[in-house]
Amino acid sequence: MIVVMKPDATTAQIANVAARIEQMGFRVHLSEGVERTIIGVIGNERPLDREQIERMDGVERTVPILRPFKLASREFHPHDTVVSVNGVTIGGKQLVVMAGPCAVESREQLLETAWAVKNAGAHILRGGAFKPRTSPYSFQGLGEEGLRLLALAREETGLPVVTEVMEPQMVPLVTSYADILQIGARNMQNYALLHAVGKAQRPVLLKRGMMSTVEELLMAAEYILSHGNDRIILCERGIRTFEQYTRNTLDISAVPLIKQLSHLPVIVDPSHGTGKWELVEPVSRAAIAAGADGLIIEVHPRPEEALSDGAQSLKPSRFAALMESLRPIAEAVGRTL
Ligand code: PEP
Ligand code: MN
Repeated sequence: MIVVMKPDATTAQIANVAARIEQMGFRVHLSEGVERTIIGVIGNERPLDREQIERMDGVERTVPILRPFKLASREFHPHDTVVSVNGVTIGGKQLVVMAGPCAVESREQLLETAWAVKNAGAHILRGGAFKPRTSPYSFQGLGEEGLRLLALAREETGLPVVTEVMEPQMVPLVTSYADILQIGARNMQNYALLHAVGKAQRPVLLKRGMMSTVEELLMAAEYILSHGNDRIILCERGIRTFEQYTRNTLDISAVPLIKQLSHLPVIVDPSHGTGKWELVEPVSRAAIAAGADGLIIEVHPRPEEALSDGAQSLKPSRFAALMESLRPIAEAVGRTL
């Protein structure tokens, strides 16, 4: 349930209502808008005496939230959440592009890619150090050495870094190197991991599971929010369907849908969404047109030599061309790039 306070409610009236809700055994989440304050009531499905709250001074009305996700819902938090990371903001007017290799392979490969994406206008460097691979015989990532290289690339280029964390026990280690913690599609419903990143002092990039509904994605975000971390960026990266020409089917409608249901920023991953570098540019353009707050794109200096996901990785020159082709679309939808 949310309690909508009157526009002229005083600080004392707001505090009074919050205290009453806590006395009733619920937690309170204050959302202070420009016009009015909204008090979110968090707790289990226990009944709460709405009329009692509605009679209190300064209260305009109460509204039950029927959706299973509360903290992630737009009713609870009507304004867009803007996540800030080292001076880059995600979810505002400015679009954000995260780019880099699928996996960190070597110092040279990472630095070459980092400089190339930075010079083309990317805002954040991506790169996997711990790789969740379908086959146990495939390259599994450089581990901590990969994290060290990402930190080095950040030092040299100034780009914040996003990288995947696969296990709860690894959250402190990854947090000590990364600016954004990525939860991969395969781990979207790893509740112990969601709990751990919910406690971490870093923004989280939460990717949609390949067989997950939008509601399940928002429920996964709810886990992170309910453990105290509200800096979450959602990512549509394609879901599995019967289509075989593409690696996944990118659900473009998820972008405006999530924007309606939630206040959290949404980005699109056209690389894993399609699996084909030729489709990355058109799908990126569609994502921006549909209202995405940004993109995460795989780039490799020599895709034919990549240790993972070469077929969907752009060469630096193609990435630079893509960035240019996005500018008019960004402008058309009132965003900047
Ligand atoms: C990735 O972005 O490195 C990745 C493995 O993607 P996903 O979890 O979406 O498959
Ligand atoms: Mn990849």
